Amino acid sequence: MRGRNLLVLLLVVPLSAQNKHSPCANCAAWNEPQQPFRIYGNTYFVGTHGLSSVLITSATGHILIDGALPESANLIAANIRALGFRIKDIKLILNSHAHFDHAGGIAELQRLSGALVAVSPWTAEVMNKGAVLPDDPQFGTIDPIAKVARVQILKDGETLHAGAVEVTAHFTPGHTPGGTSFSWRSCENGRCLNLIYADSLSPVSAGSFLFSRRKDYPHNEDFERSFAFLESTPCDILITPHPGASELWERLAQRNSKPDALIDPTACRVLAEASRKQLHERLAKEPVK
Ligand SMILES: [Zn+2]
Repeated sequence: MRGRNLLVLLLVVPLSAQNKHSPCANCAAWNEPQQPFRIYGNTYFVGTHGLSSVLITSATGHILIDGALPESANLIAANIRALGFRIKDIKLILNSHAHFDHAGGIAELQRLSGALVAVSPWTAEVMNKGAVLPDDPQFGTIDPIAKVARVQILKDGETLHAGAVEVTAHFTPGHTPGGTSFSWRSCENGRCLNLIYADSLSPVSAGSFLFSRRKDYPHNEDFERSFAFLESTPCDILITPHPGASELWERLAQRNSKPDALIDPTACRVLAEASRKQLHERLAKEPVK
């Protein structure tokens, strides 16, 4: 059942992005307010009900991953304040992939915090231009994001610091050429766990785009490299840009009776497997060149 739910979500959620240039059918639901909560140790969920945003804190500065929709920025800021943290203490903002539903709020969150934004080279180009790039599989079907001011380019495998927080970036392209996942460790009462924020790996595209056609998508090996990362990385708690893709709400609901309900060392491998199946199904449907 769980696997099926996961697959349904992977298939259904991103398709809405195909709606030509808004109105975004799912945006209102995605932007439903969500009470912020501690995921584990110094890691908090500060996003909306439908879109993740994660704050990793330290006494000397915080890192924020993802900014959801443009209209989510104020909700995220309010959630951070409600937890007792200051927006100005966010020193670094990271992004899974530069689509309007995960990067749309970053320009405003940067304005509020003064934080540096560090992203992959492809994502930096999107943020510098405030445009959907022609090699984005969803080019022509989605709205661009607002330009982002101070953007630094990060390297695959680079460990980033803000105050005492350390997060490592892993390039996991596929859904976009610039997709990035993140790993870090958080501790509670001396028990330290590996947390993974895994970028979307769904092959969603504009109608005429083919993942199997080199001209459209010269990065054929990307997906498999990204699946391999998910299969091999130490992963105790998985978080995904769409919380449903990692069953966050179902797991959270169990936490009252089962304190470790968010912990599942198989979650990254299950996501890799479901995503690989989804890609193979998509490739099988594409016309032979
Ligand atoms: Zn996307």
